[in-house]
Amino acid sequence: MGVKLAGLTNSWLLRTKRRALAAAVALACASALLPASAQDQSPLDERILEIREQARFVPDKALQQLLKLEPEIAAAAPRTQAEFMTQISATRMGLGRNDIALEFAEKVIAYGKSLHDNAIVAKGMLTKVYVLFAQADVKAAHQLAFEAEKLAMSTSDAALRVQATITAGQTYAEQANFPQALTKLQQAVDMARPATDDPVSLLAALNALSKLYTQMREYDKASAALDELLAETGKIKSPGRMAMAKNTEYGLAIDSGQPKRAMRALLQSLELERKMGAERMVGITLVNLADINLKQHDFPRAAQYAAEALRSSLATQDKSAEAAARANMGQAYLGMGRIAEGKKQYEAGLARYEQENNKPDLQAALREYGEALERAGDLSGAVSAYHRERALSNELFETQRRQSVLELQEKYESEKRQRQIELLSRENQVKGAEIDNRRLQQRVWWLLALVFALASMVVGLLYRKVRHANAQLEVKNMELKAQSTLDPLTSLYNRRHFQDYMRGLNTAAGQKPELEKRAHHRDDIVGALFLLDVDHFKNINDTYGHAAGDAVLKMIAENLRVALRETDMIVRWGGEEFLAFLPAIPRHGVDEIARRILTGISSQAIRYQEHDISVNVSVGFAPFPLAPGDVPLPWERAVNLVDMALYLAKAHGRNRAYGVRGFENFHLTSMEVIEQDLERAWRAGYVDLSVVLGGPPGTPPASPSEHSNVVSIKHAKTGH
Ligand code: GH3
Ligand code: MG
Ligand code: MG
Repeated sequence: MGVKLAGLTNSWLLRTKRRALAAAVALACASALLPASAQDQSPLDERILEIREQARFVPDKALQQLLKLEPEIAAAAPRTQAEFMTQISATRMGLGRNDIALEFAEKVIAYGKSLHDNAIVAKGMLTKVYVLFAQADVKAAHQLAFEAEKLAMSTSDAALRVQATITAGQTYAEQANFPQALTKLQQAVDMARPATDDPVSLLAALNALSKLYTQMREYDKASAALDELLAETGKIKSPGRMAMAKNTEYGLAIDSGQPKRAMRALLQSLELERKMGAERMVGITLVNLADINLKQHDFPRAAQYAAEALRSSLATQDKSAEAAARANMGQAYLGMGRIAEGKKQYEAGLARYEQENNKPDLQAALREYGEALERAGDLSGAVSAYHRERALSNELFETQRRQSVLELQEKYESEKRQRQIELLSRENQVKGAEIDNRRLQQRVWWLLALVFALASMVVGLLYRKVRHANAQLEVKNMELKAQSTLDPLTSLYNRRHFQDYMRGLNTAAGQKPELEKRAHHRDDIVGALFLLDVDHFKNINDTYGHAAGDAVLKMIAENLRVALRETDMIVRWGGEEFLAFLPAIPRHGVDEIARRILTGISSQAIRYQEHDISVNVSVGFAPFPLAPGDVPLPWERAVNLVDMALYLAKAHGRNRAYGVRGFENFHLTSMEVIEQDLERAWRAGYVDLSVVLGGPPGTPPASPSEHSNVVSIKHAKTGH
């Protein structure tokens, strides 16, 4: 047999544990809502306060007195009405009518809500907590207790705050959350201590604290709290309060191994309760007395107290006390060896527990039953009790297990949901980041495209600008080149250009072959050089002014262009001198061209402002290239020779042209000799000159066939 003697220590716990809250309720209820100091109270309030002090200990009397006040209540202040209903609830609960008690608690809550008075609502909620607890609706009681505390702490009602804090502390103790319970109850004591005009709040707080320390096996601290409780209780001379303090002392003494002190406290309590007529408390104290005697193995005395307890509990219809009384009585009989009687009583007690559906107490009672039977020698009875206890334990365990599995599952489910939510939100974050990233990338691409487009535009514009600048540069270059090759006044080629041209002509094909080629040109087609000088030009300047001279020069240039071809190169040789190089003309037409030049210039007077200015020129000319021997003359010497011919034309009367046609007997002379004096060489017959005479001013250009003014002068060889 594994069943051991454990004594009836549990009996106190069975009793006291479930009554702990209710006791605190009764104490705390006496300190709420109504003003504590006598001056502020109405006579009605005072009456209710008095009744309240009785309610916990003698609820039946308290109820009767309350009901007598009913007619006056309707006209009373709201808080008085609320307090009245609270006390109805408390007394009804004390009398075992939890249903009516709950109804009145709800009424208080509704009444407080209709008035928007949080103190009344909180008070109603606390009242409901105690009823729920009496109904063993532990979960709902706990939840509402914390809500009530929260609401009460939002009010300025000091007593209510203490009461709510005590209730919260006791709730934590119920949940075996001792650190929190201790914090709350110490707070409650600290809050209640300074309120000297409200001693009941402090008593309730100290009572709860002492019981908590006992439960926590902190006996020294429990004892200290108890000492203060007893001292404070002594001050107010309330038998009910003292009885409660003594009950607390009993609990501490029995748990801390002081059975004598426990017994003494119980007997003192019993005496006080009997004086007050607090029948229910008497019943409980008697049960506890039976219990302590069982523990002392004083079975006859235990049986005696148990019998008294049974009578009392039957009178007050306290079913729990009745069940415990019968169990104790049965155990006492078993202890005395009256096994049949003992079993009968015990079974009756167990039946009561079963009726009450109080399974935890039933289980404890079954265990003690088995142990008592074992001690009494009824082993089969012990085994049977043991099996019943095990079955119930399994049932309880199963219920508990199922409950905790459900709770665990709920917790697991909610944690799982939480995790899923977190996972989803993290996924969302990732997706959000991806979307942001994509948007950013798109923006970057758009930006790049924009930059590229802008850059292309800029490059395009720059390119156009550069092209434009290049074109302008080309134009400028061409202008510059033209400027460097053209004479600004007449727009004819300048002398430098002609020189470049002649040099280019020689180097391009090699001087000798080119000149030879020209020299051996077909006889009928030749090139020709003409050099002109305006006759008496100085006079024009002097007569009409320098600007008139310029105008005449421009006009002569114009006339030369008309007289010659586009392929002919006309050059302003200097001052009032012009040079024309005709690359290809018929040999017999050279004189004719000289004549055209003379008449082209002199045929028309030049109009300058109001003046008609007549002008004529002298010309020297020769075919080009000229080859007096076998070797053609360089172009410089050819020009020099033509210049000499021009000089002759000037010397012989102006307005005429002298042309070198060719050389004869050249082996008898030299180019140097000829160049020294052209006229002499001509007269000596070494040079053949033609002379073309210009007409008087205004003479129209002659037709190409007319050669009347061309004279070819040949001199006989003089033989130098
Ligand atoms: P000729 O040739 O018939 O002997 O007489 P001329 O008066 O033409 O002789 P000269 O060579 O002494 O005079 C040429 C003059 O031409 C001198 C100069 O002042 C003038 N002259 C030279 N170049 C220009 C020019 O570009 N414009 C103007 N108005 N006069 C110029
Ligand atoms: Mg001149
Ligand atoms: Mg001149």
